[in-house]
Amino acid sequence: MFSSRMSNLHPYIPGEQPHDRVYIKLNANENPYPPAKEVVAALQDFLLKNPKALSLYPDPDSNSLRTAIADMLNKTGGVLCRSEVLPDGKMCRPSEKDAIPFEVTKDMIYCGNGSDEVLSFLFYAFFDSDKTLVLPEHTYSFYPVYAGFYNIPFETVSLHGDWTLDTDSLLKRASENDSGVIFANPNAPTAIGISREKIRALLTVFDPNKVFVVDEAYCDFGGESSISLLSEFKNLVIVRTFSKSLCGAGMRLGYLVANPEVIHAITTVKNSLNHFPVDAVTQVAGIAASQNPAYYIDCAKKIVCERDSFTRFLRERGWILTDSQTNFVFARHPTISGSEVYRKIKEEGILVRHFDTKGIEDYIRITIGSYEEMTALKMAIEKW
Ligand SMILES: *Cc1c(COP(=O)(O)O)cnc(C)c1O
Repeated sequence: MFSSRMSNLHPYIPGEQPHDRVYIKLNANENPYPPAKEVVAALQDFLLKNPKALSLYPDPDSNSLRTAIADMLNKTGGVLCRSEVLPDGKMCRPSEKDAIPFEVTKDMIYCGNGSDEVLSFLFYAFFDSDKTLVLPEHTYSFYPVYAGFYNIPFETVSLHGDWTLDTDSLLKRASENDSGVIFANPNAPTAIGISREKIRALLTVFDPNKVFVVDEAYCDFGGESSISLLSEFKNLVIVRTFSKSLCGAGMRLGYLVANPEVIHAITTVKNSLNHFPVDAVTQVAGIAASQNPAYYIDCAKKIVCERDSFTRFLRERGWILTDSQTNFVFARHPTISGSEVYRKIKEEGILVRHFDTKGIEDYIRITIGSYEEMTALKMAIEKW
């Protein structure tokens, strides 16, 4: 009954969502804070003042939303945790280091149903089934899933001993295979990133006719965004999401920042597959969120503060972990195995992520939650 394609699918396994007990969820890199109150108000207004709006199709190209996202990027440089809220409490500006030297415009933004969908369209548009794609050995686990889905062969490149990406080998293999590249910066689950200068250097030597995708899902928590490089490199494509730093995992909203030709190509893919990827309610919520960056800057700063305090807490107890630039830490206990640490924490009513993957099986990935959640976790760890 099923197609041969179907039998070759290896779906992504998300962080568990158990219903047997109420857990503190630190396993899916969700934001512990609610959206800005302006988002809730905008949704209420939308539904109460114009209920018929739900009966109509949404704007297929999310025009107002794209304008609002471009505006937010200009005001934050794509790194919320280093942005500065001005004295009026509403306006903000990027740190000097993150300021984008040109104006990001609507025609450089594409919106999709979560960045997972946006990524799927990128795989469709840029990677061929007769060219072997090169992926970092430990990275966002959806990339190999999409490679399988679209029948794109892939190979992996090991990370360096300090968990940084071996970008030189990655690019070398990609060039040899005549393929584009994709990686996350900062990377998951390792929590560390590479500098914009390093990315510029890589783009300078990479074939300008091959795509260079950087997934910046976690950039707002302390990475370095490559948006500034778009004016120099037409093959650079940046993927971002509302799921982590914009308190919107339930909204399903992700976007691309790229040159207009890329946006145009991905819009063509979208119009061949799912004409209305971003529903009307999400467009309203996304616009309101983008127009209130000050609130999200505050959330990102709180998460970074909690992360750094938790990192110190673990290091004082002998744990080994990377210097996270994200809203999670990648850590291992000095003696207890990863699966055992995961189990002990779960017994205390807290879920973290353990990957049963060779090379990282001793590590766990812990999402940074609120002060209260992190206090509960610290107390659970103190017990043993
Ligand atoms: C969470 C995550 C995404 C997916 O985000 P959605 O917008 O929720 O689909 C993409 N890339 C990376 C690296 C992520 O961690």
